[in-house]
Amino acid sequence: MKLFGTMSIKENELIIGGIGVSELKSKHGTPLYIIDQKGFEDKANLFINNFKSNTFDTRVIYASKAFMNLSIAKLVSKLGLCIDVVSGGELYTALKAGFDPNKIYFHGNNKLYDELVLAVQNRVGTIVVDNEYEYDLLSGISGEFETVTRVILRVNPGIEAHTHEYIQTTKNDSKFGLSIFDDKTMDFIIKMSSDPNIDFAGIHCHVGSQVFDENTFLKEADEMIKYAKEIENEAQVVFKELNLGGGFGVYYTDEDNPFELGSFLGRYTKHIEHKLSELDLNPEIISIEPGRSLINSYGSTLYTVGAIKKTMAGLPYVFVDGGMTDNPRPSLYQAKYEAVIANKMDDTDLESYRIAGKCCETGDILIKDASLANPMPGDLLLISSTGAYNYSMSSNYNRIPRPEVVFVKDGVSKTAVKRETYEDLIRNDEVID
Ligand SMILES: *Cc1c(COP(=O)(O)O)cnc(C)c1O
Repeated sequence: MKLFGTMSIKENELIIGGIGVSELKSKHGTPLYIIDQKGFEDKANLFINNFKSNTFDTRVIYASKAFMNLSIAKLVSKLGLCIDVVSGGELYTALKAGFDPNKIYFHGNNKLYDELVLAVQNRVGTIVVDNEYEYDLLSGISGEFETVTRVILRVNPGIEAHTHEYIQTTKNDSKFGLSIFDDKTMDFIIKMSSDPNIDFAGIHCHVGSQVFDENTFLKEADEMIKYAKEIENEAQVVFKELNLGGGFGVYYTDEDNPFELGSFLGRYTKHIEHKLSELDLNPEIISIEPGRSLINSYGSTLYTVGAIKKTMAGLPYVFVDGGMTDNPRPSLYQAKYEAVIANKMDDTDLESYRIAGKCCETGDILIKDASLANPMPGDLLLISSTGAYNYSMSSNYNRIPRPEVVFVKDGVSKTAVKRETYEDLIRNDEVID
C-alpha cells in the first residue's frame, strides 16, 4: 500500500497524523474513517499556490459532494477555498459551518424550488444554472426577494473524458448542462443577460472524473474560452467567470498513474493565459472545482478483522466489520483499493486474500485480491484512499450504523462525525398500530 500524507510506520504499526492505528481503535472503535488533516491542508495549499495568475483571479472550489460535514466545511473555509454544493442539504451544511455565502457555488441539474429559495434567501454567491426551467424559477425567486442573483451557466463543450483520454463529440446526451453546439443555448444566454434579476457572469463545465490525461483539461479550456468569446460577441456582455470543473485523477492502486498536480497546475494556468490573450478575452476569474483530488488520498478506513474463511475454490476471505455500507464504490463501479494489516506493517511475507464486508450481498467485496500479512481475527485492516465518495455515499443497509469520522493531526484525534447508534437508526421510524 502506498503511504500518503503524514502516514508512517513505527514498530510494525501504521501511524497517521502522529497517532498509531491501535490507539485510534481503542479511542474511537472501528470501522473508523480517518482524515489526515495535515495531508488535506497541504493538498489545498498546493492547489492555491500553483493555480494562480497575474492576468486573472483564480478560485479553487472544493466539490463538497466528495466528503461533507461541518468540520470539513469549516476547514475548507479557513484554508481560503470556495465550496460547491449540489443540494439543499450540502448548502445547509456549508451555511451552518459559517461558510461565507459569497464563496458558495450551487450546482445540480434539478435544483428544487425550496432549494433555490434557501440559496437566494441566504445570498449564495453563485448559482450554476443547468437549464431554462430552473432559470425561470430562479429569476422569479430573485424578483420576489428583490435581489440580483449571480449566475453562471453549465454548458457541455462536447468533450467526454474517458479516464485515460478524451473524445471529442458533438453528440450530447449528458443530463448536465446545455450543449455549446446548440444555437438555442446562445439565445438562452442572451435572454439571461438581459434579466434585471440575474447577473449573468459566465459559464461552467465539468467533463468527467478520475481523468488522467492532461490534454483533456487543456482541450476543455480551449473550447470553453472559444465559447466564452462567442458569448461576449453575441450577447454583448462582459464575460466575468470561467469555471472549468474538477476531475483530476488520483492514485487508488498501481493501475492509476496520476500526473503531478503542482506542475500540471502551472502548465494549465499558462495554457489558459495564452489562449485568453490569443482571443483577447479578459475574464476576472478562472475557477476549478477539485473534489476527489483534494480529499481522497487523505482519508482511510480502519476495520477490525473477523473470521478468515477458506473456501473450496478461490482466495480465502477476510471478513471486516464494515463493507459496502461504508464504501459502496467497489460494488457500484468495480473500484479498486489497496489495504494493509495495519498492525503488521513490517511483515513482508504477503499472501492474497479477498476482503469482504458483513452485508447480506454476495457483491459486498471491498477488495477482490489484496496482498496481506497473515491476517488473524482481531487484527486491524486499513484501506487507503477512501477520503472521497465513501462517507458521502455510505448507507444504513442491513441497519448498519454509519462509522465515526475522526480528523487526526499532530498526535491528536478529534471526532468530526459521531458513530451512529441503534437509536439513530430508528429515529424517524413511526410505529403504526
Ligand atoms: C463531481 C463534480 C466535481 C468534482 O469532481 P472530482 O472528480 O471529485 O474532482 C466538480 N464539479 C462538478 C460540477 C461536479 O459534479
